[in-house]
Amino acid sequence: MDLREFRAGLDAWLDEHGPELEPRHGPDVTLDEEMAHLAKVKRLAYDAGWMRWGWPERVGGFGGSTLMRAYLGEALAFRDLIEPGVYSMTEVLAPTMIEFARPELAAEMVPRLLRGDETWCQGFSEPSTGSNLGSLACRARREGGEWRVSGQKVWTSLAQFAERCVLLTRTGTPESGNRGITALFVDMDTPGITVRPIRAMHGRDEFCEVFFDDVRVPLDRTLGEVDGGWAVAMDLLPYERSTSLWHRGAYLRQRLARLLGSAPEGALDPAELGEVVQQVFAFQARSRATQHRMARGERLGPETSIDKVMVATTEQAVYDLVAGAVPADIALGDDADGDRWRTEFLYSRAATIYGGSAEVQRNIIARRLLDLGAER
Ligand SMILES: Cc1cc2nc3c(=O)[nH]c(=O)nc-3n(C[C@H](O)[C@H](O)[C@H](O)COP(=O)(O)OP(=O)(O)OC[C@H]3O[C@@H](n4cnc5c(N)ncnc54)[C@H](O)[C@@H]3O)c2cc1C
Repeated sequence: MDLREFRAGLDAWLDEHGPELEPRHGPDVTLDEEMAHLAKVKRLAYDAGWMRWGWPERVGGFGGSTLMRAYLGEALAFRDLIEPGVYSMTEVLAPTMIEFARPELAAEMVPRLLRGDETWCQGFSEPSTGSNLGSLACRARREGGEWRVSGQKVWTSLAQFAERCVLLTRTGTPESGNRGITALFVDMDTPGITVRPIRAMHGRDEFCEVFFDDVRVPLDRTLGEVDGGWAVAMDLLPYERSTSLWHRGAYLRQRLARLLGSAPEGALDPAELGEVVQQVFAFQARSRATQHRMARGERLGPETSIDKVMVATTEQAVYDLVAGAVPADIALGDDADGDRWRTEFLYSRAATIYGGSAEVQRNIIARRLLDLGAER
């Protein structure tokens, strides 16, 4: 199937099934319900085949261009059937898993993620390790035929729902930096793992603290080489800054259209609106080029930091516009529409933190793309 056929077929399927896939919104909708809704959308899209296009056949996909995956998330986000942050965890974690896991493991696990039977989480950040990932401390030592993991992760999105975790551990000496890190694929129901959700200011327990107390992980759950986990992390982060951001761009356009349709007469300043529309389209133009590079098989790298800075700035500009146009919704947010604007406005503040903070992205752009000198 080519992209044109894919788009036409998917659009027809969504026209038919859209009403059945619509989520509920409002102050009474819990994260558990949102996650159950996401699983339903993925299952129906997988069973109808759409979720399988653009993924390799060796992990249950139908092959074809990765642009199909970009379009599927775009169509779901634009029709307001998914929230792109939770939907796109698949785009963040699965490509690296396919690249670095044993082929049998990837073939067993990836279809479960694509079909919505499972949720996975990303165990990178720790209480004293976010931007400076190379100094992480969660320790894995080899004992007999297995790893024994002890330590703590934090800000682990959706860990309370996750069946698996892509986990970065310290296997070298504490001073070994990014040369002594190993990536593991861990079952979250293993004894010794404790997950404590954290309530964020937008009212959702989206992320968690995760504690590992002498957790046993089979050696064949190692992703890539022992002490080669930095390569896994460097492979994954550009995915976190590519297709998932394309989906978010589609979502921002949809929300902007909604604002235009619902804001009171005269509430939007035309100049501010024009500026924000321009930002959304500029980001989409940038992200489109990234999608096409990925589809050509090019390896993504530090240049995706530009995409990340642009989408985060754009998202905050969109919701600053919302705050100016419907201030009462942001302050009170007591009906379904208002609650949604309020929740999204608050969540947009995190856009310049997750997936690598804006300052650190600008450092990457300055030092690695523009060659403006090393970190002092
Ligand atoms: C909503 C959300 C979801 C998340 N989900 C996950 C997840 O699923 N898995 C996961 O592992 N992590 C997750 N994170 C964590 C995220 O990756 C980190 O918060 C981020 O990398 C920043 O690290 P930090 O919080 O330790 O801040 P720090 O690294 O301590 O940074 C603090 C401040 O200092 C600035 N700073 C740091 N270093 C430099 C530097 N060299 N130059 C200039 N400024 C600098 C930063 O920009 C920031 O403003 C999530 C975060 C959020 C907000």
